[in-house]
Amino acid sequence: MLSGISRRSRALRGHVFPKPLPNSSSINLARLPPALLRPRRFMCRNAASDNEEVAAKAAAKIADTGAPTIFDKIIAKEIPSTIVYEDDKVLAFRDINPQAPVHIVVIPKIRDGLTQLGKAEVRHAEVLGHLLFAAKLVAEKEGIVDGFRVVINNGPEACQSVYHLHLHVLGGRQLKWPPG
Ligand code: AMP
Repeated sequence: MLSGISRRSRALRGHVFPKPLPNSSSINLARLPPALLRPRRFMCRNAASDNEEVAAKAAAKIADTGAPTIFDKIIAKEIPSTIVYEDDKVLAFRDINPQAPVHIVVIPKIRDGLTQLGKAEVRHAEVLGHLLFAAKLVAEKEGIVDGFRVVINNGPEACQSVYHLHLHVLGGRQLKWPPG
C-alpha cells in the first residue's frame, strides 16, 4: 500500500517545483500568482517553444529558395534515420525529437515545390492522399491505429521548422486537446 505522500510523489515525478518560499506555512497559496505555483517543467516547455518559434521563423526565411533540407539527406540515406515505412513515393522515419512514445515523420520522396501544405497545387492531390494513407499504415504498424494524431505544421506561426512537407504521426499516450 502506498502512503499518501509517496502516491503524490509518484504522480508528480518529473515535475520540479520552485524552491519553497520563506515562511511558506504563513503564506496563503490561493493569493499567489499562478505562475509561481506552476511546476517548472511547464516553464521549461515555454522556453523550448520560444526556441522553436525562433527556429521556425529563421527556417521560413529560406523556405522558398529551393535549398535542400535535412530530409533530402535522409531520403538519400546520407544521414542515418530509423525508417519504419517506405514505398516508391513516401518515406516514414522516427522523429529525432519525439513528442510522444510513437512519433513518426512521413514525407514525400520528391518535394516538387511542396515545401509546406500551403503551397499545394492540384497536381499534388495524389501524393497528399498517398501521404495520408501511409500515415494510417504507419499507425497500424506501430500498434496505435485506434488512437493517433496526424499533424502538419504549416509556416512559422505553426512552428514549421523543415520546409519539405511532412506529416507527424503521434500516439502511444493520451493526447490532449486543444494542442499548444
Ligand atoms: P516541423 O517542426 O513540423 O517542421 O517538423 C520537423 C520535424 O523534423 C521535427 O519534429 C524534428 O524533430 C524532425 N527532425 C529534424 N531533423 C531530423 C532528423 N535528422 N531525423 C529525424 N527527425 C528530424
